[in-house]
Amino acid sequence: MDHFTYRNRVLHCDEVPVPVLAEKYGTPLYVYSRKTLVHHLKAIQTAFKAVDPLVCYSIKTNGNLHIARLMVEGGAGCDVTSGGELFRALKAGCSADKIVFAGAGKTDAEIRTALEHNVFLFNVESEGELSAIAEIAKSMGRVANVALRVNPDLPPKTHAKTDTSVKGVKFGLDIDTVLEFAQNVLKNPHIKVVGLHMHLGSPIITVEPYRQGMVKGLVLIDKLRRQGHQITVWNMGGGFGIHYKKNEALPASAFAEVIVPAIQESGCRIVLEPGRFIVGNAGLLVSRVIYTKDSGGKHFVIQDAAMNDLIRPTLYDSFHRIWPVAPAQNFAPPEDFQIENPGTKKCDVVGPVCESGDFLAKDRYLPPMTRGELLATFSAGAYGMAMASNYNGRPRAAEVLVDGGEHHLIRRRETFDDLIRPELEC
Ligand SMILES: *Cc1c(COP(=O)(O)O)cnc(C)c1O
Repeated sequence: MDHFTYRNRVLHCDEVPVPVLAEKYGTPLYVYSRKTLVHHLKAIQTAFKAVDPLVCYSIKTNGNLHIARLMVEGGAGCDVTSGGELFRALKAGCSADKIVFAGAGKTDAEIRTALEHNVFLFNVESEGELSAIAEIAKSMGRVANVALRVNPDLPPKTHAKTDTSVKGVKFGLDIDTVLEFAQNVLKNPHIKVVGLHMHLGSPIITVEPYRQGMVKGLVLIDKLRRQGHQITVWNMGGGFGIHYKKNEALPASAFAEVIVPAIQESGCRIVLEPGRFIVGNAGLLVSRVIYTKDSGGKHFVIQDAAMNDLIRPTLYDSFHRIWPVAPAQNFAPPEDFQIENPGTKKCDVVGPVCESGDFLAKDRYLPPMTRGELLATFSAGAYGMAMASNYNGRPRAAEVLVDGGEHHLIRRRETFDDLIRPELEC
C-alpha cells in the first residue's frame, strides 16, 4: 500500500497534486509520503510482533534526518554502515542502545566513536576487524558486544551487485571457518559474542533464501553456544523486496512466517535491518521533459532527472515504473509497464548527463511526451537520493515530505555555491 494515486488523471501524493509540488519546489524533486513510511515500518513491526523485534532502519537506504526521525519516533532503531551514518542516526534522535553497526571496513576512528556512544552491537565481518575492536575496547577499558556476520553461502538470489550471501563476495565470515574463528574469540576479555548476523542480499522477493538461512543459522547458534558463547541476538539484516514492476513482492508476514519459528526455536531476540521495504515505495522522483528526439532508430525523452539523481537503473539494471504525472485522456497508468500499451511509443528516458549510461529507463512504452510535461519515476525512495551525486555539476535535488494535505521541504535544492563550498579558495 502506498499513497500515490491518480485522481482525475493527475498524480497525487496523499491529498496533494504532484504538479503543485513541482511548481513550488522545482524539478527534479523527490517526493515522499509520510503515511506510507509509517505504514511500512508498522507492517514489519506487526508481522514480527510474536518475537518482539528490534527493527533497525537501514540509514544507508535514505538517511534524510526527517525520515530517520520518523522511524525513530515509530520505535525503530538504526542500522548504520559508517561513522557518518552513526552521526546521522544520533542526530535523528536514535538512542545508541538501538544502533547496530555494520560494514566490512570499519576504521579505528569509527570503532572508537561507536564504543564511546555505546552502540548496541557491532556486526563483525573479519578477523582483522575483531582484533581492532578488541584492541580499541581494551584501551578504553570496555567490552564490545558483537554479532558475527556470517556469509551463509546460499544460491544466487538477486542482482550480482547486491547479493551478499554467495561465496566470493566481500561480506561476512566464511561459514566453513566461523566456528574456528569464534573459538579464538572466547579468550578475549574485551569482546563478547552475543549474536549472529546474516544479511542475505537485496531485494529478495521469495522466502526461500530466508528459509535456507534460518536452517543454517540454527545449527550455527547451537554450535556457538556449545563453544561457550551466550548467543542472545539473531540479526537477519534487511533485504525484503518491494513492487518495482507490478505485484512481485511479498508482504512482511510472508517473511515472518519462515523467520519467526526459527527465532522462537533459538530463543534469541530478533533484530531486523529493513531499508528498501520501508522507504522504497514511499518515494517518487518527479522530473520535467526538456526535449524529445529521434536518433539512430530510437526515440529519446530527455528530462531533467539523471543518473546523478537516481543511479539504480544504470548501476543495477533496475526497473522503475515511469508515467506522466498528468497523462492525456486514454493514458491511465497501465497494469503492466513492461508491455506495449495502446497508443504508447517505445522510448528511452534519459537525462542531461554526458554518459551513455545516463538513463532512467530503456525501451519503455510511454504516451507521446512533450516539452514541459512532468514525469513520475516510482519506487525511488530507497537508494535514490542516498546515492545522488553532483556529477556533471548538477546540484542535488530537493526532497519534500507530504502528509495528508500538507507538504514540507525536508532538504532544499542544492545551489551552485554548494557545489564549490568545500573547495579551498583559489
Ligand atoms: C543494505 C543493508 C541493509 C538494508 O537492506 P534493504 O534491502 O534496503 O532492506 C540491511 N543490512 C545490511 C547489513 C545492509 O548492508
